[in-house]
Amino acid sequence: MSKPLYKRVLLKLSGEALAGDKGFGLDTDTVNSIAIQIKELMELQVEVAVVVGGGNFWRGRTGEGMDRTTADYMGMLATVINGLALQDALENIGVLTRVQTAIEMRQIAEPYIRRRAVRHLEKNRIVIFAAGTGNPYFSTDTTAALRAAEIEAEVILLAKKVDAVYDKDPNEFDDAKKFDELSYIDVLKLGLKVMDSTATSLCMDNKIPIKVFGLDNPENIKKIIFGEQIGTYIHN
Ligand code: UDP
Repeated sequence: MSKPLYKRVLLKLSGEALAGDKGFGLDTDTVNSIAIQIKELMELQVEVAVVVGGGNFWRGRTGEGMDRTTADYMGMLATVINGLALQDALENIGVLTRVQTAIEMRQIAEPYIRRRAVRHLEKNRIVIFAAGTGNPYFSTDTTAALRAAEIEAEVILLAKKVDAVYDKDPNEFDDAKKFDELSYIDVLKLGLKVMDSTATSLCMDNKIPIKVFGLDNPENIKKIIFGEQIGTYIHN
């Protein structure tokens, strides 16, 4: 059997990815399926850190008329709900997991400590990063870029509802063009809605490649790990 291409990866799961077809909240079957896919990576000795989003419950921009900082803290709390749900699903199938939060809530999870996170990964535990960066005005995509740089992940696996990056919404336009490969600069210049510009710049400056793919096929993560070209590859 061929060997995995990566030793340490950062998987970004948007809140939407955890909501399945429900579009809101958590879909148990979807969360369980993702947990199984993560377990498969762990069994291949790939170290997996996960950043969870929160958009299935709340996004800062949902709180129109609210104080932005308050609305963003609500979003960060939403990511903690998702982190705990994923931890539970992983532990149910026997995977050792630690949740680390960027905002201290010690009764619930460990605080984020980089060295400790790396140590967990080395022990083949799955580390789930929740509460974003701990700062308002940021996104969990930026969190993914930041944590990937900090823990020296080789790649960000960006799980999306759509199977790749397109020049326009493929659900709306039949002639939407799919990109197999893109540079960070293209993403920024073309204003492609893959990640926000802060996250894209951080990846560009730190040379962290991104694989964008859909969770529609439960084999996709494994395919990427073994180097199969699916979705969109964003790099320098
Ligand atoms: N958020 C934040 N700072 C961070 C990460 C997230 O303020 O470092 C807030 C922000 O309001 C965001 C919400 O948490 O809208 C949920 O995160 P995001 O929208 O990135 O989730 P996703 O779209 O991935 O589900």
